[in-house]
Amino acid sequence: MKNIKVLAFDMGGTKIASALVEISGGDYKILGYERNETPKTREDIIAKILELVESYRKKYTFKKIGFAVAGQVNKKGDTVVCAPNIASLNNFALGKIISRKTGLEVTLKNDIRAFAYGEDNFGKYKGYDDAVFIAVGTGVGGAIKMNGKFYFGKDNIAGEFGHMVIEVGGEQCNCGRKGCWERYVAGPGVEKMYEKVYGEKKGAKDIVFDAVRGDEKSRAIMEKASSYFAIGFANVVNILNPEIAVIGGSMVKEKRLLKLAMPFIKKEVLPSARKVKVVNSSLGDDAFLLGAALE
Ligand SMILES: [Zn+2]
Repeated sequence: MKNIKVLAFDMGGTKIASALVEISGGDYKILGYERNETPKTREDIIAKILELVESYRKKYTFKKIGFAVAGQVNKKGDTVVCAPNIASLNNFALGKIISRKTGLEVTLKNDIRAFAYGEDNFGKYKGYDDAVFIAVGTGVGGAIKMNGKFYFGKDNIAGEFGHMVIEVGGEQCNCGRKGCWERYVAGPGVEKMYEKVYGEKKGAKDIVFDAVRGDEKSRAIMEKASSYFAIGFANVVNILNPEIAVIGGSMVKEKRLLKLAMPFIKKEVLPSARKVKVVNSSLGDDAFLLGAALE
């Protein structure tokens, strides 16, 4: 792998993480990490990014900027096509604008793809020829690697696992369909499930945290979410027959929760596909920044 120095951004609906990523040989360094809130308007987002670029420029030398964006990005990698959680960036040539204002080369990619690139190049389970990557956070995203190559689809959106329907006539999804997988396993869906059952509100992070620590109510909800996770997961594995599945994102940070899902997964996956290795992300949030920096 060639040596690179890239200012990397991981842009989500709530946070903008940034760092200078240095890659040389098979090693990497993440320098000057910063985490900021995502501003609401397009103008404020651009202003924040430019401010961060300037502050990194004072400390480091770099010629490229790479973005991992929580949404769909065009094939050229200069425009955000659709970002449900950062709606002010919908249909916006973010890459072009930042490039024009900074004079630097700028590329955008979908954040789950960045996560997959990071794991595939630097993770504990790197370099498998047939792999799927699934991230469960505010939504559910995925990336597919087949025969040693990532598969993007004609319009660059392959791997939207979160929007397969697993409950006919189920919960309304932002995408317009009902009963999508992410409505049952991602943060907002799990919060809704909790509220429906117990009539009280509780944040997804707290539900995950308390479930692991033995709170009965949270555990019951996470078990239900895990059984839904297994259904969608089995669909993916049964269709693609990967050798490995790398699972990441804020909802599965607590490793025991994937363990909760394993018995359900064993039942749902076709016997011939049960050899699939199911593993937790080994890089955590770094995977997104690393992937943003990679070509
Ligand atoms: Zn959907």
